[in-house]
Amino acid sequence: SKDRLQPMIRDTPALNGKVKDVKSRGSENTILHKKFPGGHITLVGANAPSTLASRPIRIVFCDEVDRYPASAGAEGDPVALAAKRTTTFWNRKLVLVSTPTVKGVSRIEKAYENSTKEQWCLPCPSCGELQPLTWGQTIFKADGPDQVQSVEHCCRECGALHGEYEWKAGIGQWIAREPERKTRGFHLNELVSPWKRWEEIVSDFLKAKDSPEELKTWVNTSLGETWEEQGEQVDENELVKRREQYAASVPDPVLVLTAGVDVQNDRFEVEVVGWGVGKESWGIEYRIIYGDPAKPEIWHQLDEYLGRTWRRADGSGITVSCTCIDSGGHHTTDVYRFCVKRETRRIFAIKGEGGDGKAFVGRVSRTARENCALFLIGVDGGKVTLLTRLKNKFEGTEGYCHFPIKAECGYGEEYFKGLTSEKQVIRFHKGRPRLEWIKVGKVRNEPLDVRNYATAALEILNPNLEMLAKVDRNSPKNTQSGQAQPRKYGVVNKGIQA
Ligand SMILES: [Zn+2]
Repeated sequence: SKDRLQPMIRDTPALNGKVKDVKSRGSENTILHKKFPGGHITLVGANAPSTLASRPIRIVFCDEVDRYPASAGAEGDPVALAAKRTTTFWNRKLVLVSTPTVKGVSRIEKAYENSTKEQWCLPCPSCGELQPLTWGQTIFKADGPDQVQSVEHCCRECGALHGEYEWKAGIGQWIAREPERKTRGFHLNELVSPWKRWEEIVSDFLKAKDSPEELKTWVNTSLGETWEEQGEQVDENELVKRREQYAASVPDPVLVLTAGVDVQNDRFEVEVVGWGVGKESWGIEYRIIYGDPAKPEIWHQLDEYLGRTWRRADGSGITVSCTCIDSGGHHTTDVYRFCVKRETRRIFAIKGEGGDGKAFVGRVSRTARENCALFLIGVDGGKVTLLTRLKNKFEGTEGYCHFPIKAECGYGEEYFKGLTSEKQVIRFHKGRPRLEWIKVGKVRNEPLDVRNYATAALEILNPNLEMLAKVDRNSPKNTQSGQAQPRKYGVVNKGIQA
């Protein structure tokens, strides 16, 4: 308000005098609220959009939206909250402006992708072809950041090279790539800026190029493009396509079943995972059990679910050998109470720990409350393992992940969005690079956590899968006629006597 708005009002003859000075007597104007004939300007921070709550607003202008918090306190998305103020106006206008930030988490990129996608285009001085100026077509000669000899832009149509002044002398226009869309979106970069010389842009690039963090800033601010983090992400669509028809609930190569449980305020999310030689895995079922964890009913349902006998193609049965339940949420004591009575069934409470260098299955201790066994799980390490396994494209090899296509198994598109909802990125802390997990977009990440817990359960159980495979081949299987016998395997528990 003080640095930009006030000087603009003061220095623009058409505006000067329309808005009373803050200091003038009887003025209703404050720094953040300015009245003028026919309207008002109200300035609010993205972290407190509730300041707008009582006012209808016709035009909302959101600046630097990529730096907004995902939620304004507990109130929700600040852009959505601000937009809500405009609903009573037929001629409302919502403007989002920003330097983009990280690909996949950028608000402005998402908004632009859904718009007319207009680009500022200039004509080639040789052939007249209208085109946006891009870094890819920029050709420069330099001996270092301070010795830029020449910068030219190559026409994408005729290949002619022309310098800055020739290109900038052309008459430009906006050209939409999606002209049918209702929301208009505009993109331009610093190469067309009247305030920045190409030589300076090249010099900035040469200074920044060796540091990922500086290069990121340069890409964001000079090119106006999002930065793609180095961290690899698994393509959810490939996983969706990979889903297969199992011959039975539990495919034959599965030797052991484990489960992971995430506790939310209104539900449990549970996954049963089958494991074979080389920790090749088969998703068996992803189940959401709704209910209030403060009440006993939902726990009865969970107990029953975890005790189920699952069927193979030959009719024989197999039960879950080990389960990990997250105790880190709001129902810690309930989780302890449930688990402590079921340790003989290897149903264990776990607590996730973030950060590098933590063992995937760490220390086990007894809790003061309820005297329950509690395993510490290094979730970041678990995510790295999972990412590596999901990237494995070769069925029958170590760690390959299978998923069932049958709808009732619960592996829909939402599941895969959740499973791939986080990726590893490089972050700089006090100049040192560090890998961190960040959430991509706003999808729920429970499927990722739950798979991590089911994997932790396998590590706690620590079975010799290769040996089990030999035993399995030699033992006669139960037939459909008989009562299914849950398989019993000699397993070594890590750290705890069940
Ligand atoms: Zn040309």
